[in-house]
Amino acid sequence: MTFTQRQSQEHFLRAQKSIPGGVNSPARAFGAVGGSPVVMDRADGAYLFDIDGNRYIDYIGSWGPHILGHRHPAVIDAIHAALAKGTSFGAPCELETQLAELVIDAVPSIERVRMVNSGTEATMSAIRVARGFTGRNVLVKFAGCYHGHVDSLLVKAGSGALTLGTPSSPGVPPGCTADTIVLEYNDPQRLDEAFTARGKEIAAIILEPVVGNMGVVIPTPEFLKALQNVCQKYGSLLIFDEVMTGFRVAYGGAQARFGIRPDLTTLGKIIGGGLPVGAYGGRADIMNVVSPVGPVYQAGTLSGNPVAMASGIATLTRLKESNPYPQLESMTKLLVTGLSKLATDAGIPHTIPQVGSMFTLFFNPSVVTNLEVASKSDTKAFARYFHAMLERGIYLACSQFEANFVSAAHTDADLNATLNAAKQAFKIVAAA
Ligand SMILES: *Cc1c(COP(=O)(O)O)cnc(C)c1O
Repeated sequence: MTFTQRQSQEHFLRAQKSIPGGVNSPARAFGAVGGSPVVMDRADGAYLFDIDGNRYIDYIGSWGPHILGHRHPAVIDAIHAALAKGTSFGAPCELETQLAELVIDAVPSIERVRMVNSGTEATMSAIRVARGFTGRNVLVKFAGCYHGHVDSLLVKAGSGALTLGTPSSPGVPPGCTADTIVLEYNDPQRLDEAFTARGKEIAAIILEPVVGNMGVVIPTPEFLKALQNVCQKYGSLLIFDEVMTGFRVAYGGAQARFGIRPDLTTLGKIIGGGLPVGAYGGRADIMNVVSPVGPVYQAGTLSGNPVAMASGIATLTRLKESNPYPQLESMTKLLVTGLSKLATDAGIPHTIPQVGSMFTLFFNPSVVTNLEVASKSDTKAFARYFHAMLERGIYLACSQFEANFVSAAHTDADLNATLNAAKQAFKIVAAA
């Protein structure tokens, strides 16, 4: 049987006539690697099946949510049970409180939590709360961290060392980003300088406590320490954007792993178990500024809807009961060790940072500590690797600058099949 994605290609031509770029989120579009995206039909466990009938071992898990694998029976059953009782009430229901209690129980710093419908909504709301609580406007973010498509966070660094950010997308008025300072990740010195200059105006620092969105980048202990120090010294809030890392790098997220208590935390992805859920929460005194207790407005017609809550509850409950984290971490370690050895054998300069079940194979000889280093990766080599893997039934993130995920549904056989494919893929990359 020869590998073909003909039906995917034909369908994608049709999709482009009705949907901008044929996709409802640009990360799916294969823009960074070329070619036509694969159109999926269904998923099961560790596998995706496209409309041509090809099967792929999936290392994206819908960009994070499917830590249990696709269609976990406990999750599907919970969704069915909720569906049978109605899809949305526009009134309180018990499931919202149950998910809130699970989150508070899991995440050390969260005392109150509000459900929303996406990670973007969560970060947008958290920074509004931080600004409302502190009465300050300025935000600090880090180059390469992604927090959803929030106006004030779609920003790139200006030219000077301490300049405020300029919009990174047309349609974002310069006024929206004028109060956002962009710094390099893992640079405690620049962080100190920024706070020395503007500390009393800074409402909050927002960051991915392990970055996934420029590929996996690990924070140094010095950087984490510096974040806590400046926030304490200047009365700014520390916001951990754990939309990706929450329930991924540990049940309690990166903050549990590192033993840090941020003031506010944003969640998404795993918390919805594949349905649209986001959440933001933190210290009770801070969260009490949110309407209707306090004056900071935030709302949502479908927020806390019972079907999505049921999916989240089933996912977190299963994670709590089965504790797959040690197993996920050791399987991922086996995979990245194997990949690294094969890449070395093929003479390919690379680095593979891993935290828990998140990893990125950077075609880059240096340890990737920030966006500047990440940008020096060989994206052409990545594109060749990506397509060689895809043709061999391995579905990786379609950009060098993304995280890949192992799920609890992956087996040793899946990992071995992946390494076999990688051995051939690296030969293709090395020969080019
Ligand atoms: C995915 C992601 C978001 C955005 O979440 P959406 O649900 O896509 O809006 C925000 N922050 C981080 C760290 C993410 O990984």
